[in-house]
Amino acid sequence: MGYRVTLIPGDGIGPEISAATTRVLAATGVEIEWEVMEAGEKVLEECGTPLPPRVCESIRKNRVALKGPLTTPVGKGFRSVNVALRQELNLFANVRPARNRPGVPSRFTDVDLVVVRENTEDLYAGVEHRVGNDAAESIKIITRGASERIARFAFDLARRTGRKKVTCVHKANIMKLSDGLFLACAQQVAAEYEDIQFGDMIVDAMCMKLVQNPAEYDILLCPNLYGDILSDLCAGLVGGLGVAPSANTGDGCAVFEPVHGSAPRRAGQNVINPLAMILSGVMLLAHLGETRAAARLEAAVDAVLTEGTQLTYDLGGRAGTSGMAAAIAERLAK
Ligand code: NAD
Repeated sequence: MGYRVTLIPGDGIGPEISAATTRVLAATGVEIEWEVMEAGEKVLEECGTPLPPRVCESIRKNRVALKGPLTTPVGKGFRSVNVALRQELNLFANVRPARNRPGVPSRFTDVDLVVVRENTEDLYAGVEHRVGNDAAESIKIITRGASERIARFAFDLARRTGRKKVTCVHKANIMKLSDGLFLACAQQVAAEYEDIQFGDMIVDAMCMKLVQNPAEYDILLCPNLYGDILSDLCAGLVGGLGVAPSANTGDGCAVFEPVHGSAPRRAGQNVINPLAMILSGVMLLAHLGETRAAARLEAAVDAVLTEGTQLTYDLGGRAGTSGMAAAIAERLAK
């Protein structure tokens, strides 16, 4: 039986890594019919919005999507389409695994952690306004409902995947009310999961500990902003954004996408590393219940990394995006 999955190719390097990913997914033998939906810069002029309603309708119908990165103008222009999509579809949990892979240069060899990021509120709620000409305010929103929901998600993920420890990341010493509530909710939920260790750490100390000894950590439970920042940091611990996949999940739908952005300066050059999106494809296959195909694709990625002849620039090689995808597809055909 085939699957129907929404594909948002994205802006900048998005179409190149999407082509690479659909190519290797096809090589697994799993039949996926892609419903291609454009969003972002490309459709802004034509539709008057970077997120036409048909995009969310398609995801609601298919319940699963693969997404390339979408550009957000800095300091002006439209609001982030990525944030809007997560809020519109109530994709409240952003799961960002970071682990060492064979052949990928890194200062560490034993990193295997998952950032679980609350995806719908915090400073990303988009509530900001000017106060006169020379000041601006952004409102940080933390609610009990969303905080308990993401904490429970993190502990359930730990149980489901055999992980042992959840660390709540916060700044409750300064933001006593907002981060204090997030931490209190995590502590309360932790009491229901006696089989999983629980700890908490202030976000600045967490950054230092992660770059000193990342192997100590397992699942990091974060409000939206710290989760965004820490997941790039964690990608850097294991070889960079080129190998960092993610899943956005909620009650009904799941959207898989690389952690990185649209890298506009590299667009159209066939140089970008497709693995972050391909590994998001591995997560998508697992989500569909295609665990064997997911394991085969991941093994093919690791084999190409170990061989080391078809690596992109960020991993010290000279291969192109399509060359790396071809090498992975070839492995799958063996
Ligand atoms: P970026 O992630 O696009 O790029 C940061 C750096 O990492 C650049 O030097 C880039 O060349 C490099 N890089 C990124 N992905 C790579 C890959 N797969 N292989 C090799 N090198 C890679 O971040 P940015 O430049 O800050 O953002 C560009 C745009 O992307 C912005 O408009 C931003 O809002 C958007 N963005 C979107 C998402 C998303 O769609 N989920 C996430 C982050 C940023």
